[in-house]
Amino acid sequence: MLSNEQNQSLSSIVGGDTYAWVSQRAWVEINLKALSNNIVQIRKLLQPGTEFMAVVKADAYGHGAVSVAQTALKAGASWLGVATVPEGIELREAGIKAPILILGASYTPEQIQAIAEWQLEPTLCSAKQALIFSDILETINLDSPLRVHLKLDTGMSRLGTHWQNCSEFVQLVVRLPHLNIQSVYSHLATADSPDRTVMDLQHQRFKSAIARIKDVGIEIPRLHLANSAGTLSDKSLHYDMVRVGLAIYGFYPSDHLLSTVDLQPVLQVKARVAHVKTIEQGAGVSYGHTFIASEQMRLAVVGIGYADGIPRNLSNNMQVLVRGVKVPQVGAITMDQIMLDISAIPDVREGEIVTILGSEGNEQITAQDWANQLNTISWEILCSFKHRLPRVNIA
Ligand SMILES: *Cc1c(COP(=O)(O)O)cnc(C)c1O
Repeated sequence: MLSNEQNQSLSSIVGGDTYAWVSQRAWVEINLKALSNNIVQIRKLLQPGTEFMAVVKADAYGHGAVSVAQTALKAGASWLGVATVPEGIELREAGIKAPILILGASYTPEQIQAIAEWQLEPTLCSAKQALIFSDILETINLDSPLRVHLKLDTGMSRLGTHWQNCSEFVQLVVRLPHLNIQSVYSHLATADSPDRTVMDLQHQRFKSAIARIKDVGIEIPRLHLANSAGTLSDKSLHYDMVRVGLAIYGFYPSDHLLSTVDLQPVLQVKARVAHVKTIEQGAGVSYGHTFIASEQMRLAVVGIGYADGIPRNLSNNMQVLVRGVKVPQVGAITMDQIMLDISAIPDVREGEIVTILGSEGNEQITAQDWANQLNTISWEILCSFKHRLPRVNIA
């Protein structure tokens, strides 16, 4: 028998399309209500009038870009941020009309045409890039100039013109008839650190750049600087818009920001028990026999593996929620399956749903737990789930 909770979670994912989902071996559940609530909570930190960009690059950090974008816009976001041109086109093809900023900056000539055609808004990193855009747009019949965003490097040493050269950059772009500056922005390198030294320095440089631009008599419609960490840590970083990724998905950039806002993880990963068996003392489990049963034990094989995005480095070092109980995963994680020690719950049945990431009852296993275990960040864990796992929107 499935527990009540499992039956419930099954019926919530089954929705109107019962047959399609009951056969799934593993999937990602996306709680759009939690997403919406996270955005509402974060927006409470903003001044009225500060715009909210939901960053939905990388398929919305693995959550499914279109449904996340639609939900975010309903919850009060007015901008969307993507990394690439195809990511922007995907949103436009789904009928999304909101302004879309491309945060990355590698564009082929064909992509520049596509940007104009789909009314996406590119980041320009240099005068040279602005001139290339200008030349290509000259050959296209545009109804209105292309809306562009100028990026300054204030200390991330990634994209952007050095902040000290900002006025030359802005002055050049302002003179180009096919380009219309929508914003000047920069990106913080260390906003998730409790040590504010570098963040404060970047902020000073940003302020100084804005002053230089003002000095040459140019009005910029919109200034923005803050990612999730900047948004949660200091209102003075908000400017005209915040660009929030991680936090809308329910994770904190750092433990020292836990008290700033109440967030709930949006994504859960579920899988089904494929096979249950008893193995004898001394039996080795999985490739390489990295786990040997020290006594007779009950084993559940679950249909999810590293090809679905479970990091193989978690082998023998992760837990899974089975009927609300954390049980250890044993042996090497394989491409399509993992094995669990269910000796504590020997009557687990084939077909039961277990929680790989998420919560059951009072227990929870989060992307942050995996990130800590693997010495990486929750961002990377969220982005690791592959398309073989269907995304199922709940709520
Ligand atoms: C990804 C990205 C963000 C969002 O960062 P989070 O830390 O996930 O909030 C904001 N701005 C830029 C330029 C980005 O590339």
